[in-house]
Amino acid sequence: MIEVEHLTKVFGSGTESSNRVLDDVNFTVDGGEIFAVVGPSGAGKSTLAQCLNLLQRPTSGKVIVNGDDLADLSAAALRTARRRIGTVFQSSNLLARRTAAENVALPLEYLGATKQSTKTRVHELLDRVGLGDKADHYPHQLSGGQRQRVGIARALALKPAVLLSDEATSGLDPQATDSFLRLLTEVRDELGLAVVFITHEMETIVKVADKVGRIDQGRIVEQGALVDLVLDP
Ligand code: ADP
Ligand code: ADP
Repeated sequence: MIEVEHLTKVFGSGTESSNRVLDDVNFTVDGGEIFAVVGPSGAGKSTLAQCLNLLQRPTSGKVIVNGDDLADLSAAALRTARRRIGTVFQSSNLLARRTAAENVALPLEYLGATKQSTKTRVHELLDRVGLGDKADHYPHQLSGGQRQRVGIARALALKPAVLLSDEATSGLDPQATDSFLRLLTEVRDELGLAVVFITHEMETIVKVADKVGRIDQGRIVEQGALVDLVLDP
């Protein structure tokens, strides 16, 4: 599970409210649950994503994954702890000169896994996302939807507790979006992952979210079960 407590991000040293990009954000996502964060452009979604996977340090607040506050770790401890959160990025950001299999292998290589265990794991992961036969394809030889599924495989490589999807369906056609969302719900159920699904697309969250938080101007202005929320498209 992931528990976000009083998360605040202030850019610059000024005290003006315009620098406060995240303001006291609180939510909890249990294993086996998809929490969607939805809001307009400029609301603070990508800053939130980067604070959750610790690509940015929050100014204050906690990001607790399975009991440990990642926001409070030393740089050295963070290198290992970050693997608890796997991220699928917008337009996948796969390395263009590496095959699908080589892209999925990256986090494992970085960790120093043996060649044989990496190979086994990569094939298992590509099979899981339905791309077992595309292992040797380069990103440009894959469709947008296939690239995002490779992104899921890479995000799962280190067996994270939390899967973060950062605008991962933006730019996909409706069919590829549905297939991505289906895969997300499958891994939620099979692996018991806590999924944080960040998007500006209101129409996708109704298909996938168990709970929703609406973010505006750096604050979660409303959150709860999907059915209870007033969602204005
Ligand atoms: P969203 O992803 O919802 O569009 P962002 O997190 O990208 O929102 O941006 C939220 C606000 O934070 C915007 O007003 C943006 O200008 C500001 N912001 C983002 N990154 C920085 C930064 N590095 N320095 C200063 N302001 C930033
Ligand atoms: P093992 O650790 O021996 O692979 P597990 O029971 O942990 O056994 O996992 C069962 C299956 O699910 C394996 O294929 C494993 O690689 C995969 N798996 C387990 N947890 C995760 C996770 N968080 N992310 C991705 N795959 C996972």
